[in-house]
Amino acid sequence: MELTIGREEDLRAYSMHIGGSQVVSERRMDSLDPYTGKVWATVPSGTASDVDRAVAAARAAFDEGPWGRMTATERARCLRRLGDIIARDAEELARCECRDNGKLYREMLGQWRYIPEFFYYYAGMADKLQGDVIPSDRPNFFIYTRREPIGVVGAITPWNSPGLLLTFKLAPGLAAGCTFVVKPSEHTPVSTLELAERVAEAGIPDGVFNVVTGDGTLGAALVNHPGLDKIAFTGATETGKRIAAAAAANLTRVSLELGGKSPNVVFADADLDLAANGAIAGIFGASGQTCMAGSRLLVEDSVHDELLERIASRTREIRLGDPLHPDTEMGPVANEPQHRKVLDYIEVARRDGARIVHGGAAAEGLGGYFVQPTILADVTNDMRIAREEVFGPILSVMKFSGEEEAIRIANDTRFGLAAAVWTENVHRAHRVAHRLRAGTVWINAYRVVSFAAPFGGFKESGLGRENGMDSIREYTETKSVYVELNAQPRDPFQLG
Ligand code: NAD
Repeated sequence: MELTIGREEDLRAYSMHIGGSQVVSERRMDSLDPYTGKVWATVPSGTASDVDRAVAAARAAFDEGPWGRMTATERARCLRRLGDIIARDAEELARCECRDNGKLYREMLGQWRYIPEFFYYYAGMADKLQGDVIPSDRPNFFIYTRREPIGVVGAITPWNSPGLLLTFKLAPGLAAGCTFVVKPSEHTPVSTLELAERVAEAGIPDGVFNVVTGDGTLGAALVNHPGLDKIAFTGATETGKRIAAAAAANLTRVSLELGGKSPNVVFADADLDLAANGAIAGIFGASGQTCMAGSRLLVEDSVHDELLERIASRTREIRLGDPLHPDTEMGPVANEPQHRKVLDYIEVARRDGARIVHGGAAAEGLGGYFVQPTILADVTNDMRIAREEVFGPILSVMKFSGEEEAIRIANDTRFGLAAAVWTENVHRAHRVAHRLRAGTVWINAYRVVSFAAPFGGFKESGLGRENGMDSIREYTETKSVYVELNAQPRDPFQLG
């Protein structure tokens, strides 16, 4: 494959988008390319007053603007146009994300090429959000329901897949008729700012999609804002808990997509080549920086050594390097704190008795924040490495004996985002899938998502679901309307 893209040297400078205007701020923040370690773009460091203005713009667009007056069919047309524009510009958007977060170009391009499908899917739903006619127990009342947009949404996203994770919120939210104030991660603000220009080009009116940039302090100003009707958050579980507490103060609706420590369970009757491939996809894809990472590999004791060797032998060949190069299989981790955190966890695991089968250190000589793909054996489920989310390329391998023990270990976690089961036995596959306490379970596969299937967490992995038919409900309120059919005065002192 040819190297099709490169890095331009000019520093890019971006503005925030508020109410259709480009807004700068006195203070600016740098966005670092994790491969070169150099600043490649700068963005404003927004303030609480920028959040006020953005929420006011979103409120005005919702209450008085053309968005609120548009028919759902017209809104759907805007969403389809936005999908087309993103498809046209997928390469540029992917490139911006690679430079911001160091993930592989081919991964980010795949995501941006898939994102239009979300807008087309929810465009199809926009004008089918119908209410019900209630079969009323009150013969003199005609009762019906309306599905109305929830209002102004504050959306906060992490750095690992900024465009895709925003789309999980934006596509159903816009289809429902909501307006947005978005705060992307301070590590990866650029693709969201680039998207704002394309939202305008799609004919979506000013004020419907506002972007403020800043760190967690700005995020906190947004989630504490009384002008929001809903918060849609993706990020770490501890941040999610703080956001849920802030939301409670104003009773703002909230959906949370949080962390994971997902079990990847391989039975002795599995196809071990497929399982080895799935284990690698689960933990070394995106350098392990995915919420659904299969960070705990549970292997039935009789095939443990064999599977471990197959995984180790493929891992030794993983090509680390420039994420923009098409031959690269693993890029750096996204930023310096993350790099430190991943290396610290390797030390913790070593001290707790884990055995390093491969990796176990920073990858030298590549520049940037590289960590070797690391396989740890002899891990037990009570070790910190098996209990806490690392968000890096560290695979913890554990043994089990029989189905009951596999399920017990798999479910012994505070998280419940995803899980996988590998077996050729169709009965066992479904039986185990039903007992795993996780929002997504793959059978003989790992790390697959679809706009059509609900995604979200059990337990401390989140609240609510994104994607699929139901997620649009997260962006609507149901209203019951009672129509009196008899023009007769009623007893005013009694419940009707
Ligand atoms: P993070 O929680 O540190 O930050 C996420 C976002 O929240 C950022 O925009 C940040 O600025 C903002 N933020 C930080 N503190 C805040 C506060 N007090 N109030 C409001 N906003 C605040 O997470 P991260 O390090 O960017 O991302 C990694 C985490 O995201 C991992 O835990 C990962 O599992 C999780 N994640 C979950 C999913 C999912 O769909 N479940 C997907 C991707 C990532």
